[in-house]
Amino acid sequence: MSPLRSNNNNNNNNNGIGIRISWDSLSGHHYADVGGEQLWADVLRATLERGLAPVSWTDYLYLTVGGTLSNAGISGQSFLHGPQINNVLELDVVTGKGDFVTCSPHMNSELFFAVLGGLGQFGIITRARIPLQKAPTRAKWVRLMYTDFSQFTGDQELLMSKTPDYLEGSLITHHSPPNNWRSNSFYSPSHYPKITSLLESNNGILYSIEVVKYYDHFTAAETIDNEVEYLLRDLKVVPGFIFEKDVTLTDFLGRVEIREDDDEGGSAEAHPWLNIFIPKSRIQDFNAGVFVDIIGRQNKAISGPILFYPFIRKKWDDRMSAVTPDEDIFYTLGLLHTSGAHDWEYFDKVNNAIVGFCEKWGIKIKQYLPHYKSEQDWMKHYGPKWKTFVERKNKFDPRRILSPGQRIFITSDQHEVITNSDV
Ligand SMILES: Cc1cc2nc3c(=O)[nH]c(=O)nc-3n(C[C@H](O)[C@H](O)[C@H](O)COP(=O)(O)OP(=O)(O)OC[C@H]3O[C@@H](n4cnc5c(N)ncnc54)[C@H](O)[C@@H]3O)c2cc1C
Repeated sequence: MSPLRSNNNNNNNNNGIGIRISWDSLSGHHYADVGGEQLWADVLRATLERGLAPVSWTDYLYLTVGGTLSNAGISGQSFLHGPQINNVLELDVVTGKGDFVTCSPHMNSELFFAVLGGLGQFGIITRARIPLQKAPTRAKWVRLMYTDFSQFTGDQELLMSKTPDYLEGSLITHHSPPNNWRSNSFYSPSHYPKITSLLESNNGILYSIEVVKYYDHFTAAETIDNEVEYLLRDLKVVPGFIFEKDVTLTDFLGRVEIREDDDEGGSAEAHPWLNIFIPKSRIQDFNAGVFVDIIGRQNKAISGPILFYPFIRKKWDDRMSAVTPDEDIFYTLGLLHTSGAHDWEYFDKVNNAIVGFCEKWGIKIKQYLPHYKSEQDWMKHYGPKWKTFVERKNKFDPRRILSPGQRIFITSDQHEVITNSDV
């Protein structure tokens, strides 16, 4: 694994906020004031220098703070701490009216909640205040394999109750192998024959849990071993299919490396991804219709990671613009396809088949990083929040100048410009 790439030489420049770490004597906590343009990789590097770190991350760190806070910012820490949008103390925002506003849950709170998960519709985030905690230094990183979907999701939910520091899950298929760009080289070549033979014997689909427990120099070896042993107790993993690594926190959080010259991440590639949230009550139907039928039986070649893991709804503040299914537990599917620049339509069709299956069988999914073309679809996406979304738009960006590329509120002139620039 490579160390974090340095992308930014001006973390603390004089032209912007940069990344500034402070101590709040009232709450007794540290926080970082971070420019909206800063990359999370740089936030990690700067905070670790002080032995501190944010608690909620994305899998990939070369994304901007303003960009992920405009969506949600999800990863394996979200079940415990909520998404990144739930871990913000204060924001500076330039609204569509040109007002510069500092906002928080207690000050100008309507703008604060509008902007978080607001797809850039209400203002430009120029500063975010992120709470920090003492950083662990190492991670026990474990992967577990399952042939049975119910046991896989049952164990994910059991693990949530045991509060590890990170919990995700994924599918392994012939086209989505155990090692991929999301976490290269976790498995050694010697693991492959064993995994492949399990895959063959299970109709080409395996389910895998990824779970992590952090620790630091002060933790006795016996203590962390006992903690991992407790996490793994009573799980229904296929015997002999537990794989473990012990890495630095930086190696773990920086595990997703995509370089422009990578085969799978290069600029000549297209990434027609589908990210959706699925209510827990329908995940069995989803498995049968999507994983077993569309991806498995129809042998659709989904190249790229297929993520599937749970969240707890109460960790998402419903006053924010982001939307989730209306159930206490919901799962996320991340179909992170990589296609050539010219064959993305095939993957688009697979994505549409999955969304169509959910519509047909009444599975009330919500898209994450949504793409819709009609106002009706956006209204359906936001559901009961649509009215508030429109009121906030009228209040903070009445001329609809912000982020027209999301195609939520576009005038016919803008539509023409966007459509032409799409070609
Ligand atoms: C390789 C890769 C891996 C990813 N992994 C994850 C992941 O693990 N978890 C996850 O949650 N997401 C993930 N994403 C999605 C990511 O959260 C969104 O694409 C996000 O918009 C990326 O931020 P950006 O800096 O690239 O934003 P940009 O592409 O620059 O902007 C996207 C949109 O965000 C809004 N925006 C951007 N900056 C601001 C700002 N300062 N103020 C207001 N609005 C703004 C605008 O609407 C803009 O159109 C991933 C994306 C990629 C490309």
